[in-house]
Formats: sequence, C-alpha cells, structure tokens
Amino acid sequence: MLNIVLFGPPGAGKGTQSAKLIEKYGLVHLSTGDIFRANIKGNTELGAKAKSYMDQGKLVPDEVTISMLEAEVAETPEAKGYIFDGFPRNKFQAESLDEFLEILGCSITLMLALEVEEDELRTRLLLRGKDSARADDVDPAIIQKRIDVYNNETAPVKDYYSAQGKYRGINGVGSIDGVFGQLCEEIKGISSKE
Ligand code: ADP
Repeated sequence: MLNIVLFGPPGAGKGTQSAKLIEKYGLVHLSTGDIFRANIKGNTELGAKAKSYMDQGKLVPDEVTISMLEAEVAETPEAKGYIFDGFPRNKFQAESLDEFLEILGCSITLMLALEVEEDELRTRLLLRGKDSARADDVDPAIIQKRIDVYNNETAPVKDYYSAQGKYRGINGVGSIDGVFGQLCEEIKGISSKE
C-alpha cells in the first residue's frame, strides 16, 4: 500500500496536488477539510459540530476529526492506498493515525510536505477567497489565524514523521506540474527501494 500524508500550510496547494496524485497512483483522497465542508453543505450533525471551529479558523476537536477519518477509511477496504490531505494536523492525530493503520496492518509510507512562505500563502488564499465559496478564505484575520494554528500546532507534526525517516520537504512554489514532478520523484524513490 502507498499511504501518503500530503502536508503543508493552508494555501500550499495540497488540494491541487492531491487531485494529480490520485489520478496517477489510483489512491483514495481523504481531505478532512473537504469532508467537513460536504457535511456542512448537507446539514449533517457532523457539519454542525465542525462549522463554528472552521469559521473561526480553529481546529475541529480531535475526537470529532479522528472518528470521522477512521469511518472514511473503513468505507474503502479495497483501497490501494490513501492520500491524507489536511490530516494529521497535530501530534495526537498523527499518533492516532499510526495506531489505527497498525490495526489495519499498514502504515504511512511518506510525508510529503509542501513548503511555501507566509506572504505567498496570504496572497494565494485571498485570491482563492475571491472566486470560491470558502468563507474562511475571505477575511484576512481568519487566514492569519489558520496560518498561526498551522505554525503552532500543525508544523510540529513534521518532527513526528522525521523521527520515523518519512519526512520529505518539497518546494511548493513554482508551476503546478513542476511541484507535481518533485512529488513523483519522492514517491519513485521509495518504490525503487522496496
Ligand atoms: P486549509 O488547509 O486551506 O486551511 P482545509 O480544507 O484543510 O483548508 O481545512 C479547513 C478547516 O477545516 C480548518 O481550518 C479546520 O477548521 C478544519 N479541519 C480540517 N482538517 C482538520 C483536522 N485534521 N483537524 C482539525 N480540524 C480540521
């Protein structure tokens, strides 16, 4: 199985690159942000739980996020592998994911971390806010809150995978195909070692 954690700050390009990776490698894409947004749109109980946190740019509580993620994985037992996009977002989520995958008899193969500096992130997110329905991309204060949450709570997850020898940093600035090429090189590197 090829299980990738696609990592990076808000606006780093995780959604864009995920779409290309699932096409090339036939993986199942699990974006916690997308799943929450679909639940909000569908007026589900889960959506109601997540909405106020998302609107403020805060993390949705771990118990809500982790149980949702596990339920999504359980629904696709035939998957060749997964791209985890937007998850794990703190060390507790990373540990929970490892424990859960171990029960299933698999593990994370690689963490591919898209690196983009903050000014560029702010520009990209405000641009996305202009032509998308994402309320959290419109207000500069909410964007800054998400970047701060990333720096304080999420960035340390790199150390967690680094300690396992699974962390790979990727320059997330450049053309979409250029960034994709770098991601594919890293994946090729792992397959050739197996
Ligand atoms: P971005 O990376 O641009 O912030 P996402 O779609 O990944 O966008 O996430 C949007 C929001 O969804 C986050 O600000 C947070 O409130 C919530 N969210 C997504 N993934 C998680 C997670 N793993 N843990 C907690 N909250 C999450």
